[in-house]
Amino acid sequence: MENDRLDPWGETSVDNYQRLHAEFGIERMDSVLPRFKNPSLHMRRGIDFGQRDLGRILDAIDNNKPFAVMSGIKPSGIFHLGTKMTADDMIYFQSLSKKATVFYAIADVEAYNDNGLSLQDSSKIAVQNVADILALGLDPERAVVYKQSQEIRVMRLATVFSAGVTNNMLRAIYGERQVGLYLSALIQAGDILMPQLPEFGGPKPVVVPVGADQDPHIRLSRDLANSFQKDFGFIPPSSIYHKLIKSLDGATKMSKRSSTSTFYLNEDPASAARKVMSGFTGGRPTVEEQRRIGGEADKCPIYDLYLFHFAMEDEYAKRVYDECYGGVRTCGDCKKELATLVKRYLEEHQKKRESLMKDAEELLEKSRKTLDSMAR
Ligand code: SF4
Repeated sequence: MENDRLDPWGETSVDNYQRLHAEFGIERMDSVLPRFKNPSLHMRRGIDFGQRDLGRILDAIDNNKPFAVMSGIKPSGIFHLGTKMTADDMIYFQSLSKKATVFYAIADVEAYNDNGLSLQDSSKIAVQNVADILALGLDPERAVVYKQSQEIRVMRLATVFSAGVTNNMLRAIYGERQVGLYLSALIQAGDILMPQLPEFGGPKPVVVPVGADQDPHIRLSRDLANSFQKDFGFIPPSSIYHKLIKSLDGATKMSKRSSTSTFYLNEDPASAARKVMSGFTGGRPTVEEQRRIGGEADKCPIYDLYLFHFAMEDEYAKRVYDECYGGVRTCGDCKKELATLVKRYLEEHQKKRESLMKDAEELLEKSRKTLDSMAR
């Protein structure tokens, strides 16, 4: 499929999410969705569009068995709305069972290889990222937060895994890339499989919530789990995939690298509101035409912001959609309404986040001490 490209480090373009099921073997949500008693906002709205082996996590929940929720987030910048989605999913899965432990990898090695960010700079941003995820609702009592560069178990696993992959395998999954990025991929696999080491209770189901663009890492980790099953007893990790939110400037993927495509959770609320007001829309060239034939919410980044983040009630999101297609809404008013929601959200989030900075430092320190004190 020429138009679909899943690249964790570059341009991801997904023309049609349905095709990813056939093309990459990502399973549909239908088979597992009815088993969730309280599906998340992302699940209810079809933002989570695919999964691999998610039934294994549901089995663990039903049988009150331990499982891990794992994701790595590059500390290459303050959380934006794309990273918030991964964080929201991690928090949701943590909330489903007292036996769920979150492993949050601060992907500083990847940030160095992909973004050229020094480990020192990563470290400063990481504390702020942790404060953000705490403000979003992470329970620190059941969370392990660590930096890839400091976690010897992850590095050791990456080294072991390097013996099980060939250049051709990596090229087939990621295309022709510099060795540093291949190394980051093996380190990511180490992150994903580390929760199954004996010191963390041994083999267990692990769910990795990610954007569609991260699927190559999941495929590699699952291949490696199978290849090293005899040595470690690994269970192939499960995953859940969310759609990529449209960029405010009209590009396919919201990127931390482009300040006009997104806004950040620490951004001046007035500046974020201005970005909303100047954002790309799915509107018609004239108000008269919009009234007559309606807008195109499905193509609109402003609607994505309502749907993915700011319309908390399903009914409200549906109303925006219907009013858009019905020609009841004009883009100017629609943006103004959203800008007010965004400003209010950021003001509240930033207050919460500020009050949690110390907790973030403590969580990092506590996790480091716990990991250091465990047998390796
Ligand atoms: S009315 Fe709102 S949802 Fe519809 S196209 Fe305009 S900005 Fe987008």
